[in-house]
Amino acid sequence: MGCGTSKVLPEPPKDVHLDLVKKVEPYTGYKTDIYKHFIKGDGDAIKSGIPSPPCHTNPHVEQPDPRKNRVAKYRAKFDPRVTAKYDIKALIGRGSFSRVVRVEHKATKQPYAIKLIETKYREGREVCESELCVLRRVRHTNIIQLIEVFETQERVYMVMELATGGELFDRIIAKGSFTERDATRVLQMVLDGVKYLHTLGITHRDLKPENLLYYHPGMDSKIMITDFGLASARKKGDDCLMKTTCGTPEYIAPEILVRKPYTNSVDMWALGVISYILLSGTMPFEDDNRTRLYRQILKGKYSYSGEVSVLEVW
Ligand code: ADP
Ligand code: MG
Repeated sequence: MGCGTSKVLPEPPKDVHLDLVKKVEPYTGYKTDIYKHFIKGDGDAIKSGIPSPPCHTNPHVEQPDPRKNRVAKYRAKFDPRVTAKYDIKALIGRGSFSRVVRVEHKATKQPYAIKLIETKYREGREVCESELCVLRRVRHTNIIQLIEVFETQERVYMVMELATGGELFDRIIAKGSFTERDATRVLQMVLDGVKYLHTLGITHRDLKPENLLYYHPGMDSKIMITDFGLASARKKGDDCLMKTTCGTPEYIAPEILVRKPYTNSVDMWALGVISYILLSGTMPFEDDNRTRLYRQILKGKYSYSGEVSVLEVW
């Protein structure tokens, strides 16, 4: 499954106000993408089911622990108000403007996640505003809960519920594909969360397996939607269409690509792409050339080669 994990804004449309510009990262391909996830976080490597690389070291010579160095490096980025209350344990995720660390509340020993967003640059500020605007409004069992926020001039620290089961992305990589029954369970939970968001006038705009987290490592874990950096939040009754061109290339709906004003149904398109991936273990639209990829999406050109057992669920 070649998953273009970078979020992009295709070329800014001339006539449309853009409220967000994201860095366009080159697509790096299947193996590299898995590797990217493999090296991404301390916990993720284990959760992804991919064995650790062999370690040829002399057991008698004390080796510097790169994980400890990394944690120390990120600890230095934390405001003293945060470190007074939370112990920084491990880096568990990173994006263009953010880092996510696992922490422990010093008094209660309760684990949490803290997403640190650099707000020095406009893009980071806008991502942060979108995310906070949504997280402050929502409370749902399938959506990550915001606990508290610390703000400084250059950074925002969002303390959130910790999901310890890893990304849906990693489970797809580990399993290859899901049975119809398991895929239905996952989709039902995501749909519950998305329905709630849409009722509040919120469109996620970046639904993909990397942003769907398992609450715990067990098979029966619930799924939680995260990463509201590209979300659009409207007031109730405001049914204005959205215009911003944004998303992750492989999951972008055709109406966004042709720059038509669009509705929250772009989330349903992304869920269609996710359903396809869950059942087949492959991407419906995939090309390392962005123009060709967008052409495939616009044509709705895909073929399904996975097995579908009608008896299994329906
Ligand atoms: P970005 O905007 O950089 O993609 P995300 O919010 O998606 O930021 O976080 C990046 C990654 O960090 C996620 O894909 C996930 O692996 C991890 N992560 C984020 N929030 C949590 C959380 N609350 N609990 C556990 N892991 C998390
Ligand atoms: Mg993300």
